[in-house]
Amino acid sequence: MVKENLAEVRTRMKEACIRAGRSPEDVTLIAVSKTKPLSMLLEAYESGARDFGENKVQEILEKQPDMPSDARFHMIGHLQRNKVRQVIGKTVLIHSVDSLRLAEQIDSEAAKQALHVDILLEVNVAREESKYGFYMEEVEEALKKISQYSHITVKGLMTIAPFVENPEENRDIFKKLYQLFIDIKSKNIDNVTMSVLSMGMTGDYQVAIEEGSTMIRVGTGIFGAR
Ligand SMILES: *Cc1c(COP(=O)(O)O)cnc(C)c1O
Repeated sequence: MVKENLAEVRTRMKEACIRAGRSPEDVTLIAVSKTKPLSMLLEAYESGARDFGENKVQEILEKQPDMPSDARFHMIGHLQRNKVRQVIGKTVLIHSVDSLRLAEQIDSEAAKQALHVDILLEVNVAREESKYGFYMEEVEEALKKISQYSHITVKGLMTIAPFVENPEENRDIFKKLYQLFIDIKSKNIDNVTMSVLSMGMTGDYQVAIEEGSTMIRVGTGIFGAR
């Protein structure tokens, strides 16, 4: 099942890239494996998946040691400051940096452990009360502050678009974040590379790709309902 689902997602990714005149290699698929057992992650691995998304530190700590060493884990959920110490070094990228205090905590723990940590800033484009993240107008100032932290590199931006019936309803959200991504990239802020734009989930990843996403986070579409 996982194998067939992955094949279908990859086909749809490719089609979206072609529609947008983009190269399929420019979009990374993250298999969001939260709540799913190791056996399913291994099944995805066997079918070529190497990037896995989790939203709980505990699950990363449990699964990561039992996966092949070239499997990469991405932290995509809200991260509490008191869990930072445990998770850095276990993940390739933290997508969900949603406050300056969290960025500061990551930098100081990274310094203690002599690590360098790649992060994305989470942006609440739709200004939903229920969601974490910076508002669009706060991003540049936050990046300027974070750029002074020497153990962090900001690789880009992430958003969780609203839950909608028709993915077209999120096109404008993706367009806005892409525009901000490009604007910030052109400012060449220290320690900020703006090479990753993490947007698109099972319901809307094709639209997200058409609007410039470089990483899509797909759970249900690969592993089934949670
Ligand atoms: C769960 C989750 C996903 C995947 O959601 P699906 O709709 O199952 O594809 C993507 N991003 C984040 C941040 C998540 O928490």
